[in-house]
Amino acid sequence: MEILVCVKNVPDTGEEEIELDGNDLDYDELTYVVNEWDNYAVEEAIQIADKVGGNVTVITVGNEDADEVLRREMAMGAGNAIHLEDEAFEKSDAKGVATILKAAVDKGKYDLILTGAQADAGYGAVGGMLAAMLDYPYASLVNKIEVGSGKLTVGREIEGGNTEMNEIELPCVLSIQTGINEPRYVGIKGIKQVSGVDIPKFAASDLGLDESSVGEEGAIVKRQDYFIPEAGEGAEMLEGSDDEIIAKLIEILKANGGL
Ligand SMILES: Cc1cc2nc3c(=O)[nH]c(=O)nc-3n(C[C@H](O)[C@H](O)[C@H](O)COP(=O)(O)OP(=O)(O)OC[C@H]3O[C@@H](n4cnc5c(N)ncnc54)[C@H](O)[C@@H]3O)c2cc1C
Repeated sequence: MEILVCVKNVPDTGEEEIELDGNDLDYDELTYVVNEWDNYAVEEAIQIADKVGGNVTVITVGNEDADEVLRREMAMGAGNAIHLEDEAFEKSDAKGVATILKAAVDKGKYDLILTGAQADAGYGAVGGMLAAMLDYPYASLVNKIEVGSGKLTVGREIEGGNTEMNEIELPCVLSIQTGINEPRYVGIKGIKQVSGVDIPKFAASDLGLDESSVGEEGAIVKRQDYFIPEAGEGAEMLEGSDDEIIAKLIEILKANGGL
């Protein structure tokens, strides 16, 4: 089975103080990690390929920093990577990202396309839009996959912690929920092994894309503002060292009957 997994590099919010620049994040000086959901998607793809045979390709739309994310996923076990990079792709909305991915999918032959359920901007939109553009069936929030002949049985996480099972024909697009598996550890040794691998890059012209259909020009969702909300009344920001904050928090919890 030929499996394509869409992966995105996202700011490491655990490590970084996020600053704003106009109506967007200040992307300079940020460190990036692979989007958490995408690690589960890659792990699932590797497990499927190990079971039924096939190849796993990871693909990203991103600037030069995204190369690191592709190599990390190759160190995890993906055999191939594709980097879609062009200035024209910058400031794409979800439709733009899906348009770029669709053009790349058209250049290959994939039975199964996996995305994460969501990424840092939280739209949860790219997978569904990509499926619609390809005219492939789509299932979201998938937390179980069983491979059959020409089709899959997929579990979906729904309200109240329930799961529903669906049969879905191949080729299809699935967005993967965390918890479907346990992504394997990637060590420095593995990353070093793929550091020299040549990763093919494609720009808008290579994909036959009209530049006005992507990027800021092609966006149908235009961000109007971006800000950190002010702390509302009643919110108390605890300051001090970690130990001081913990001690104050315990005091507050005790005073309010929480402990
Ligand atoms: C006006 C505007 C300007 C923006 N400008 C920027 C900007 O300058 N820089 C920026 O980084 N973002 C920018 N964004 C955000 C960007 O559009 C979103 O990242 C994009 O819409 C995808 O949304 P998401 O990250 O919530 O992904 P979701 O739809 O939540 O992601 C679901 C899955 O789709 C796949 N996916 C998502 N993005 C990619 C990708 N790039 N490559 C491969 N697979 C992917 C992954 O599998 C992911 O798990 C902008 C958005 C708007 C509306």
